[in-house]
Amino acid sequence: MAICEGFVPRLRRALGLLVFLFALAAMGCSAALDYPGALGVAAPGAQAAGLHEPQPYEPEAAEAYEAMPPAEPEPPRLRYAVMPDNPRPGYPVTIGVSAGFGVETASLMLGGRRIARGSFFPAYSDDGSQPFKATLLTVPTTIGAGQPVIVLETSEGVAAEIPLAVAARQFHSETIALTPALTGIQTDMSPQRVAESQHLWAVLGRVGTEAYFTGSFVRPVQSTRRTSIFGARRVFVNQDGSRSTSIHAGIDYGIPTGTPVFASGGGRVVLARDRIVSGKSVIIEHLPGVFSIYYHLDAIGVREGDMIETGAVLGLSGNTGFSTGPHLHWEVRVFGENTDPDAIVARPLLDRSAILGIMGY
Ligand SMILES: [Zn+2]
Repeated sequence: MAICEGFVPRLRRALGLLVFLFALAAMGCSAALDYPGALGVAAPGAQAAGLHEPQPYEPEAAEAYEAMPPAEPEPPRLRYAVMPDNPRPGYPVTIGVSAGFGVETASLMLGGRRIARGSFFPAYSDDGSQPFKATLLTVPTTIGAGQPVIVLETSEGVAAEIPLAVAARQFHSETIALTPALTGIQTDMSPQRVAESQHLWAVLGRVGTEAYFTGSFVRPVQSTRRTSIFGARRVFVNQDGSRSTSIHAGIDYGIPTGTPVFASGGGRVVLARDRIVSGKSVIIEHLPGVFSIYYHLDAIGVREGDMIETGAVLGLSGNTGFSTGPHLHWEVRVFGENTDPDAIVARPLLDRSAILGIMGY
């Protein structure tokens, strides 16, 4: 009896220990199965609710867990680059974005108002292995104080907003007294002048698809003698004393008539004709939305549609059209915005490796 009396409590303790161990094992099993669910990864075929129930150990389930595929790689994210990051008014800004996100345009917004806009075109790394998209935007010379924002847009809406710190810039002023002949051009509202103006803006407003030239611009003449600078605020005084104002959109080089004028970069001649205001004129398209312009020539040596290389002779300088003396007016337009030629010769139109480096590719 003494044995039996001693045996029963020990049996109870042993059974109790077994129940306790089984409960512990069940809890451990539950915790192990809960963990993948907490990461948002469900075992194949597992019911989400079942993961939270204590489960007995099942070899098949363990094998299924071992065979789980690795977690999905991080989805690609939109990358972008802006060069330079602190432009001055009149400076071009090159923007690169990842391909495959449907980003179509970049707008420069200030106080809720769009002050410039560029369309993206396809681009590739130097070795062609990395596709991306690029465009240029010019900070208008008329921008006031404030920090504009570059808004990257898809057809669906806004993809990203990038604040842009624009540095301050002062522009010169100049007053120009006009002769009777120049007053006549200035005030000419003839149908021909209106038609020429409409044609000019149609040419500059056309956004092509070809990237003809992405390198660095060269200057169109060897002379460094400038008779008017970029962005000058001009007041024209007509013969009758009335005044009108404009902003000088380019650089004037004071050079003798007959001086050879060179193409600043390669591209396609999109305008080569005589105009009332600009005289004999040539315009070259380099990139979608990016043009260089040469006015007041004495002779034009290229035709519309010609493909030309950097440094090709476009013609000879002169004094034709609205001009107060022999000079070349050299201008750069980026999506219609007048752009500082000095800023655009300072670096390539599209520095692929720098842009891709900023984007982290
Ligand atoms: Zn000029």
